[in-house]
Amino acid sequence: MEKLTKKFNNAWELLKDDEQVKVFEFGEEYKTFMDNGKTERECTDEIIKYAKEAGYISLEDAIEKGTIKAGDKIYVQNKGKSVALFNIGSESIEKGMKIVGSHLDAPRLDLKAFPLYEDGGLAMLKTHYYGGIKKYQWVALPLALHGVIIKKDGEKLNIVIGEDENDPVLYITDLLPHLAKDQMDKKMGEGITGEGLNVLIGSIPLKGEKEDAVKLNVLKFLNNKYGIEEEDFTVAEIEIVPAGKSRDVGIDRSMIAAHGHDDRVCAFSSLKAVLEVENPKYTTVGLFVDKEEVGSMGNTGMESAFFENAVAELLHLQGVTSYLGLRRAMSNSKVLSGDVTAGFDPNFPDVLDKRNAAFIGKGVTLTKYTGSRGKSGSNDANAEFLAEIRKIFNENNVVWQVGELGKVDQGGGGTIAYILANKGAEVVDCGTPMLSMHAPIEIISKVDLYMTYKAYKAFYQAQ
Ligand code: MN
Ligand code: MN
Repeated sequence: MEKLTKKFNNAWELLKDDEQVKVFEFGEEYKTFMDNGKTERECTDEIIKYAKEAGYISLEDAIEKGTIKAGDKIYVQNKGKSVALFNIGSESIEKGMKIVGSHLDAPRLDLKAFPLYEDGGLAMLKTHYYGGIKKYQWVALPLALHGVIIKKDGEKLNIVIGEDENDPVLYITDLLPHLAKDQMDKKMGEGITGEGLNVLIGSIPLKGEKEDAVKLNVLKFLNNKYGIEEEDFTVAEIEIVPAGKSRDVGIDRSMIAAHGHDDRVCAFSSLKAVLEVENPKYTTVGLFVDKEEVGSMGNTGMESAFFENAVAELLHLQGVTSYLGLRRAMSNSKVLSGDVTAGFDPNFPDVLDKRNAAFIGKGVTLTKYTGSRGKSGSNDANAEFLAEIRKIFNENNVVWQVGELGKVDQGGGGTIAYILANKGAEVVDCGTPMLSMHAPIEIISKVDLYMTYKAYKAFYQAQ
């Protein structure tokens, strides 16, 4: 009767020898991508670099040419923070696309608009956290600053401090245990406050200055190096992330620790997959958006018109100019919403239902529904579409498992899945299981990363 039961197996055990080599090679390239892309802007730049090398041209260039044909490869960049790659199929886009959508933003600390101040002889930067963080995790670790500053003369500077080995890092202090009695009596969520996440950036006073001499000295350093002044902060976008590169985890090097696996692991996997697809029947799309961690709002988030505008432009280049054509393109599409899911953690066994939880090392995860309480806010994928995806995965030796975002009534969450589903597309959440989600440094398994890529590629290639 064995055949009647289903068991989700460990993916490492199912790999053939040459495939294990590929898993580790893929992990190396992923780590480089992660080290080069620690913000949504940097990831967008990396993705476009990859796309151009693979022969993609910009939407602007395609419009210039005036027409598109099957096999054309076009990237659409949106304000430097989101991007979509289209590999034009032999069928009209109106017949639908095959899309893997992921997000490039990750929980972090943003600098406030007027961040720099001095207190107790120390220069500090005020921050406002972005996305769902546990504030106590962001103290007492080396931090880096990544951002964009636009000077008064219009010059745009990309600034990175703290990533090069010779760079200084930044830091947020925590209270010494000796004096932490009151702090330790607080609830974990209150031990470190949002207004307490202030970043240490200097301590030498500027000679000859009486007031705010340390702050002035920091401004002098910034001015010498970048030519900026304090007012420039007010029009800047600066993010604080953990400093340093991604690292292998485990004596067997089976896992990777990095900042922002959520959701760059799905972004990278889908990028690699979409670039390898040749001459698809239906247009294949790698879609990489911003602002998922704060509700997908804004003109770089999934709720914006960015993606549909891009599709409308391409339809126009195919001679389809009606609004109906766009609606058909969206509703005929099939989507894997690539996002991470919670993996079973032996340190916290009680929050997941073990029968339905995703496990590290058991492959890419299909999540029928997310949401909270009674599936509130969830895209609940249709059985017919799930069956189609299962067939593709099984036929292509993709090691997959099911997952859910926690026990019933334990909490929950969402992804961009519902947004594309609202346009009529078939959508299911399909991504990588992980540990320590939303921590400054998160953990994934290399075999799950590889199976995520393999899953997306099989999905793209299925006719
Ligand atoms: Mn995510
Ligand atoms: Mn997230």
